[in-house]
Amino acid sequence: MIIVFKPNTSDEDIKFIENKVIEHGYVPKLIHGESRTVIGAVGDETMHESLEMLQTLPMIEKVIPIQKRYKLVSREYHGDPTAFAVGAGNMIGAGDFLMIAGPCSVENREQLDTATRDIVASGVKVLRGGAYKPRTSPYDFQGLGQEGLDLLQEMKDKYGVAIVTEIVGVPHVEDVAAVADVLQIGARNCQNYHLLETVAAVNTPVLLKRGMATTVQEWLAAAEYLIVHGCERVILCERGIRTFENATRSTLDLSAVAVAKRETHLPVIVDPSHAAGRVDLVLPLAKAAIAVGADGLIVETHPTPAEACSDAAQQIPSADFGVFMDELRPLIDLCCRKPAQ
Ligand code: PEP
Ligand code: MN
Repeated sequence: MIIVFKPNTSDEDIKFIENKVIEHGYVPKLIHGESRTVIGAVGDETMHESLEMLQTLPMIEKVIPIQKRYKLVSREYHGDPTAFAVGAGNMIGAGDFLMIAGPCSVENREQLDTATRDIVASGVKVLRGGAYKPRTSPYDFQGLGQEGLDLLQEMKDKYGVAIVTEIVGVPHVEDVAAVADVLQIGARNCQNYHLLETVAAVNTPVLLKRGMATTVQEWLAAAEYLIVHGCERVILCERGIRTFENATRSTLDLSAVAVAKRETHLPVIVDPSHAAGRVDLVLPLAKAAIAVGADGLIVETHPTPAEACSDAAQQIPSADFGVFMDELRPLIDLCCRKPAQ
């Protein structure tokens, strides 16, 4: 942390700030310039309090943090990419690409069974489906709740798929964790820190969607909450952000994927379905995501999208999912070559 004084600050005021720096656990290093003095507060900023409150004092020009407010997710702390298994042997990270597919919501047995059968036939082994749905309108379908979780468990038993499903609130954590191989934190809850802490304590892998108005820094800081509270297996998911553009539901921020891949060792995946909001754009956005270096994709697919209870416009008909995968596979093979052993 760098503390810059206003020009011609008195020695007495400088001493006062030096003592404040020591009180907060840092070692002050003074640099005297022509007209200004600067203090370099040496110490681990992630372990000590921020000194930014000093900025309110009249002799201070500005306080500049040097370290990022996340450490455990950073590549500086952990150089090698993190890789782990989702369910039985579906690896993600460090060159392993994970495909997750399924309907937006779990609606009924027939719908879920058909979607699961179709994705499994396309070679996908991880099923997504919301039992609890965070909907913009309270009048929209809110999900089947426990009945939806039971249906996901049935698919797991019948097809051997791993399950990704969303947690919308602390009261559901235990029931969702009983079924899920990956706990999804949705865009609307990216910065719900109490939920993040509670979910982290379960120690099941977490898929953390980027909020539609969170910066990459805030997204990574949210991931830091998960690691600090006990969950090391975190998948970051870019799903589009809110911009002025309305040709798509959200703007898929592929730059954020490239930035996150540089900043963190955690796997980063892309959700082209929620970004596009329309089915015709899912394939090109999925291709772009693979090309930019994503470690996986999460894609919505439904046996009869026109009848879907949520996100109808963006779901790929599950009968077509094999063709979708055939389009992607050569690119995945090209872009996700495992590093030579
Ligand atoms: C979803 O995955 O169905 C969902 C609600 O996504 P998001 O949180 O990204 O809107
Ligand atoms: Mn959806």
